[in-house]
Amino acid sequence: MAEAPAHCPVCHSDEMVPVYDSGTRTSLSSLCQVLPGAKVVSYCPECGHLAGNGVADADEFYETDYRILLDDEEEDQIYEARGSEIVTRTDHQMAVLRDKVALAPGLSVLDFGCAKAAMARRISQATPGIDMHLFDVSRMYEPFWDKFVAKDRQAVHTTPEAWNGRFDLVTSFFAFEHIPDPKAAMAHVAQLLKPGGQFHMIVPDVTGNAADFIVIDHVNHFTRASAARLLADAGFGAIDVDTTSYRGALIVTGRKVGKTASARVDDAEKADILAQARELSAFWSTAADRIRASEPEGGATGSSAIYGSGFYGAFIHANLTRPEGVACFLDQSPWQQGKTLFETPILAPSDLPENIDTVYAGLNPAIAHQVMKSQPWAGRNGLRVIYLQDAAK
Ligand SMILES: [Zn+2]
Repeated sequence: MAEAPAHCPVCHSDEMVPVYDSGTRTSLSSLCQVLPGAKVVSYCPECGHLAGNGVADADEFYETDYRILLDDEEEDQIYEARGSEIVTRTDHQMAVLRDKVALAPGLSVLDFGCAKAAMARRISQATPGIDMHLFDVSRMYEPFWDKFVAKDRQAVHTTPEAWNGRFDLVTSFFAFEHIPDPKAAMAHVAQLLKPGGQFHMIVPDVTGNAADFIVIDHVNHFTRASAARLLADAGFGAIDVDTTSYRGALIVTGRKVGKTASARVDDAEKADILAQARELSAFWSTAADRIRASEPEGGATGSSAIYGSGFYGAFIHANLTRPEGVACFLDQSPWQQGKTLFETPILAPSDLPENIDTVYAGLNPAIAHQVMKSQPWAGRNGLRVIYLQDAAK
């Protein structure tokens, strides 16, 4: 059985309260890989953090198996589709960064946990003369890095001594949720910054992003409170946690001041976090039952479709009693169309076959109803749409 985390990775409290246990033999990763073991989550009553158990061998996993978007240099993920216009995650991350940080030539910048460095590349292109550096825990991204950053500005696993105190800005996009010891990693970031240097991080917001709660490779489920605590303990000031500018994520910023500050969380906020964690736990525990209960009785092979070939779609497929009933996935992303997931083709939503009688909404429940209602085939006679959750009242 998977053990619920007994120590908080942010504040080191050992008063952790278990809040979720999937009770399953396997769990999905954030890249929709099926990995062995249940997912368990504990709540920290000291700092308001939620900690997950993580993958069995994290070092090996990130060195070789965590192959995010390696197929295609231009490949990206969709943040939002407004009609026919697609806003990618990289686009939106760039817009948010410009809003928070004054990018300028000569700035010494490190992207911490940069993966294939799509954001670092965008920042470099947008600001000629910026001095970009890259750091991650896998060598498999180096071919991407070599295209725009010199070798002496790349580091894998550890950073060179000479980088300490070098940076005006450290950025980190969707990395800290994977890091088993975020307290040590944040101390590392502080060490790399100049005095007064800026830190800018984006991590999933578990309260606005239900998938974050159950993916096995996310060991940290940050809340406003725990993100602020992480920075305060590492000697940051002017800490801001923006919960609204990036749907489903927290934008966390601070400046290195070199002395730790108090980041006490009031009881009402903690009670709210615990209540939301229990709600997420209930949501996922019932979502699987709901999928199975709505499966067509003896439905014809290939009579249903799953909208969404990301995490939620994979979750639905993994929980169907008869996955062979699924003819196709539907996805608005041009990078997903034409691929397969679990050996099932991924089509454009407008290509929904005529014979499909059931569509599962494999989307973030916060937007699922709205997206499904905007489809060209919405309301088609005899077509059922199954949601993971009822529409919010
Ligand atoms: Zn804690």
